[in-house]
Amino acid sequence: MNAQPTNTQPSHEISPQRPGRVSDAMAPDFLLTVEGLTVSFDGFKAVNDLSFYVDPNEIRVIIGPNGAGKTTVLDLICGRTRATAGSIQFKGRELTKMSENGIVLAGVGRKFQTPSIYEDLTVFENLEISFPRGRSVFGALTFRRDAEVRDRIEEVAHMIFLADRLQTRAEFLSHGQKQWLEIGMLLIQDPELLMLDEPVAGMSVAERKKTAELLNKIIVGRSVLVIEHDMKFVEDIAHRVTVLHQGKLLSEGSIAHVKSDPKVIEVYLGH
Ligand code: ADP
Ligand code: MG
Repeated sequence: MNAQPTNTQPSHEISPQRPGRVSDAMAPDFLLTVEGLTVSFDGFKAVNDLSFYVDPNEIRVIIGPNGAGKTTVLDLICGRTRATAGSIQFKGRELTKMSENGIVLAGVGRKFQTPSIYEDLTVFENLEISFPRGRSVFGALTFRRDAEVRDRIEEVAHMIFLADRLQTRAEFLSHGQKQWLEIGMLLIQDPELLMLDEPVAGMSVAERKKTAELLNKIIVGRSVLVIEHDMKFVEDIAHRVTVLHQGKLLSEGSIAHVKSDPKVIEVYLGH
């Protein structure tokens, strides 16, 4: 885990957005700074001049109607889609100029809507193949590395409620357990920004509660950016909420703030 520069105890109050563009000289303590982000698909702006700022140790939820551009924002941050304009700074590094793999190595993990686990491998093996290679300081000493990997796998398996399922083949897991396994496969790489697209879709109420518990546990030393529709779940996890509509920022702030915002009620919550 890399040390966080400052602000290890964020208040999660709504910090007033800084006027104009944040320059490096101001040494912003945001983990993620998105400014003026725009992507145009044949003239259609799926994301349009979007700015938002994520603190270290924050759970930020992005909500908004279908087609608002939520998934596209994650695609832009992880480098899958290239921005037409604007900037995405992660710990001071400009992601819009980096490769998808470079962005992963920089510490950004992303989970897609459909789980991409290996069904015919065990939980242990799924976690093992996700362990970053060549990062161990004991690289040459295989037995030390094996122990390190096993410890980390057990630690992550415990976090994702699968400690007693390590030898189970992934195909036999429930839908919710598969989703947790995929989160575990990202956690094992220890990303400082974890992005999840509708992680509780298809989960039971009990699984949703445990997922909220999981997210609240894993934000020590990292931030999580979640797209979600289930407002009950959003209330359980969000420190702040960003509402998108037609590619633009419609509203932002605490859950109470966005829930009572007439603009949000009109285009999203009222339906
Ligand atoms: P959300 O996740 O909020 O439902 P998306 O980000 O998936 O919305 O999509 C936003 C809009 O951008 C939609 O109208 C979608 O059809 C369009 N879009 C997304 N990706 C592409 C693409 N690669 N090419 C063209 N249009 C796209
Ligand atoms: Mg989407």
